[in-house]
Amino acid sequence: MTSLFAKFNGTASALGALVEAGGRNPFGVVIEKPLSSTVGLIEGRETLLFGTNNYLGLSQSARAIKAAQDAVAHYGVGTTGSRIANGTQSLHRKLETQIAAYFKRRDAMVFSTGYQANLGMISTLVGKDDYLILDADSHASIYDGSRLSPAQVIRFRHNDADDLHKRLKRLDGTPGAKLVVVEGIYSMTGNVAPIAEMAQVKRETGSYLLVDEAHSFGVMGERGLGVAEAAGVEADVDFVVGTFSKSLGTVGGYCVSDHPELEFVRLNCRPYMFTASLPPEVIAATMAALQDMEAHPELRTQLMDNAARLHAGFHRIGLNASRQVSPVIAVTLEEMGQAIVMWNRLLELGVYVNLSVPPATPDHRPLLRCSVMATHTPAQIDQAIDIFRQAGLDAGVLNASVA
Ligand code: PMP
Repeated sequence: MTSLFAKFNGTASALGALVEAGGRNPFGVVIEKPLSSTVGLIEGRETLLFGTNNYLGLSQSARAIKAAQDAVAHYGVGTTGSRIANGTQSLHRKLETQIAAYFKRRDAMVFSTGYQANLGMISTLVGKDDYLILDADSHASIYDGSRLSPAQVIRFRHNDADDLHKRLKRLDGTPGAKLVVVEGIYSMTGNVAPIAEMAQVKRETGSYLLVDEAHSFGVMGERGLGVAEAAGVEADVDFVVGTFSKSLGTVGGYCVSDHPELEFVRLNCRPYMFTASLPPEVIAATMAALQDMEAHPELRTQLMDNAARLHAGFHRIGLNASRQVSPVIAVTLEEMGQAIVMWNRLLELGVYVNLSVPPATPDHRPLLRCSVMATHTPAQIDQAIDIFRQAGLDAGVLNASVA
């Protein structure tokens, strides 16, 4: 009998090699207890968290915690239903109204995760005669959405507006609608989309533009709306997709738009319709976190100062870190062996970051992916830089005479 599991033999041997080389499973880290937004207990040790996407530290917001407790007391713990059946409570509509108002848009759809927001919007918006034009480094949720859609999928070179333009021009005269999908800040590398150039291409070619601001919401722009706000091109963005699981510290996804047809998307969007809606405590906590974000614009300044401090520190000690300053800072390593040793040393010395390995990385080299928080203190950042230096020396990534 053919084994159902033979297809996992490659995964099993790759994981076995990772565990053997480093002593632990890098994809099985358990945070035993978060002690604050920036410190967690891992393997019994207090560990600096530099890989949690919790950009504003709001997973530990006192206001959000209180709101969640109150909501549980009033509404119970779950909705037990889909948004288009029994799963819409007044809180869900309230959050949609608030998130739409925050973006100054006509309407918002709230999904159970950001993954589902991309999956749902992308698969539903484009039909079989339409074209989906994706940045080559798009997140898995965007690629998975494209697989669910019957549209023709075309990829353009990462962050390359000229290549996007060229590919759209080739479609001149074709009858289908064209939907361009880009991210604000790219999740692996921290690269920021040249959104003003992308918006110009969108205008010139008469296409639609969807921007996934998952990592840029709460981070960029005067009010934290993301790259489009920062670049002053919000009016060119037809659909903003985002998540509550990063800057707002909870869970859930959304799409905001001025297109009135969003109402009909709700009734055609399978990842919205065929899953239970978010529980009331999550909705309440998300609204509270949104209030925190609005009330504390200084969090964004602190976040960017912290990002600049970590970025400068990494370059000073000689690491091959992201070029752009953003709260996602990736350290690229040349080979897997070094990456595994360095990631394990970081954890042993008290810093948690994400280990990203090929083929999931954009240029097929391993990455130590760091995310910075507004709530990191300068001392924590300096300590992390020192630990990176030590781990880099131990892994043979850094040379003692330079670092
Ligand atoms: N888009 C991007 C660019 C992401 O990085 C992520 C999460 N890693 C998502 C969407 C999905 O967000 P969620 O965690 O809410 O499912």
